[in-house]
Amino acid sequence: MSGRIPRQFIDDLLLRVDIVDLIDSRVPLKKSGNNYVARCPFHNEKTPSFSVNRSRQTYHCFGCGVGGNAISFLIDYAHLGFVEAVEDLAAFVGVEVPRENAESTDVVKADNAAVYKVLEAVAAFYAEQLRGEQGQKAVAYLKNRGVSGRIAGQFNLGYASAQWDAVLSRFDRQALLDAGLVVVKDDGKVYDRFRDRLMFPIRDKRHRVIGFGGRVLDDSLPKYLNSPETAVFSKGKEVYGLSELLAANAKPSRILVVEGYMDVIALAQFGVTHAVAALGTATSKTHMEMLFRFTSELVFCFDGDNAGRQAAWKAVDAALPCLRDGRQIRIMLLPQGHDPDSLLRQEGLDGFERQINQALMLSDYFFEHLGAAQNLASVEGRAKLLADAKPQIEKMPPGFFREMMFSRLRELTGAGLRDKSVERVFKKPPRAPSGKGSPLMRKVLALLLQYPRFALWAEQQLRGVSDNHLPGFDFLQNVLAVIAEQKPENSAVLIEFFRGSEYEKAVNALVNLDLGLIELDAEAEFQGALRQLLRQMGEARMSYLIEKLSRGEVLTAEELMEFRSGGKTNPG
Ligand SMILES: [Zn+2]
Repeated sequence: MSGRIPRQFIDDLLLRVDIVDLIDSRVPLKKSGNNYVARCPFHNEKTPSFSVNRSRQTYHCFGCGVGGNAISFLIDYAHLGFVEAVEDLAAFVGVEVPRENAESTDVVKADNAAVYKVLEAVAAFYAEQLRGEQGQKAVAYLKNRGVSGRIAGQFNLGYASAQWDAVLSRFDRQALLDAGLVVVKDDGKVYDRFRDRLMFPIRDKRHRVIGFGGRVLDDSLPKYLNSPETAVFSKGKEVYGLSELLAANAKPSRILVVEGYMDVIALAQFGVTHAVAALGTATSKTHMEMLFRFTSELVFCFDGDNAGRQAAWKAVDAALPCLRDGRQIRIMLLPQGHDPDSLLRQEGLDGFERQINQALMLSDYFFEHLGAAQNLASVEGRAKLLADAKPQIEKMPPGFFREMMFSRLRELTGAGLRDKSVERVFKKPPRAPSGKGSPLMRKVLALLLQYPRFALWAEQQLRGVSDNHLPGFDFLQNVLAVIAEQKPENSAVLIEFFRGSEYEKAVNALVNLDLGLIELDAEAEFQGALRQLLRQMGEARMSYLIEKLSRGEVLTAEELMEFRSGGKTNPG
């Protein structure tokens, strides 16, 4: 992998960039009071609830809850990975990204550049071959499938000839090896991986060719052959058709997930430009998380046969952990004997869209699938459904969707709401460590995140305060420790330290919590709130000690002292 980007560089970058300029260059902002606002680019709305704060260098949407610093914005808005976002941010500011361990990094970087380059060149070569003499039979196949030259061009389709060294004789051997375009035999001989196949270049979300799929033109096997895993290509992470889909529409309202390359092409031919295909692997959680970055609804299209049903259930299984509120999945089982192409021909575009709209919601499919095997009129059948469904639903992230799945299960199994044993089964999902202590704790945390300079005084006040079991106390200690150690100059730098941690979401929400204060009052407010919090901590500590005594346990010497001083937390 590439070398690490030095932490210090990221902090400096966040101090150097102006988030207002950055966001304004993509989403035009209007000044409103201390903030800049716009209609949120992450959800549909009529009145602006997306707000950017220049002094904190953060943004937040009060409608959908997104928020963060300049790096987060690029990750969310441009669908970039962390490193990509830092690179783009550096380019925006006009600086180079340094790498630790620069020497080895340069080599790795150069190699990947050569791999991307050869993949792009070979894609162009295959496309040229398709138009040439040798490509005639591939063209005939496409024509037979009703694929026009325009669509073939749009997807950059190509043809790999039957020759053993068509690419080998033309391109750099090492780059071809690294790109997976040639194969080394046991005897050390090297030859082209793809021969006599219709070629589908696979591009990533940044529109770079990362691999190929190749389809035979007759009945020989394997029907489809994919590039192997390489430094730039991973089947478990990529899908076919995403680049073309994003070029047609950067924010599709839904994405259709079909089984094969030719399905994507055939659909595009009919004007359905929002389809992608998995690359010969089952659709994984990683795929879904990636696709949900571009849309809020996925529709999985499967053959109506047994294999299709099995694949559909696998997809449902993989999807459950990704089903946060606001995300939707439908399962579309095609009528027997149909693929998306043939169904479209039979039904026309309108009819096809209607079928998509009628596709089962994941929740319906889930209970239909699990319930079908059981006789729900019997106690045994209902118990079996309960046993099968519960662990599955527990994979879902906490939220309304999960709650509703549970309540549906209650209905179906007839598990009485007043039945204590069943209530226990349906226990509440664990609370996310969002520091959602009391409103007071939230206020202290928010002020601390918004004005990191208050931490010094807070630390003095809290020194020697023992663990008092107050919700959010761990979070508070964490924030204080990060500020003490990193001395962040603004909120944007501070929240960067929480990226990827369990506190990330809570930090982003609190840093933008509107406390209705004017700047001048903030410090006094903070001191007042913290003093009040310290009192609460003392009381919480007292009740803990009393509880311990009432259980007949012995207090330690320190605890006894604390108890005698009435829960006053003990400095040192
Ligand atoms: Zn929003």
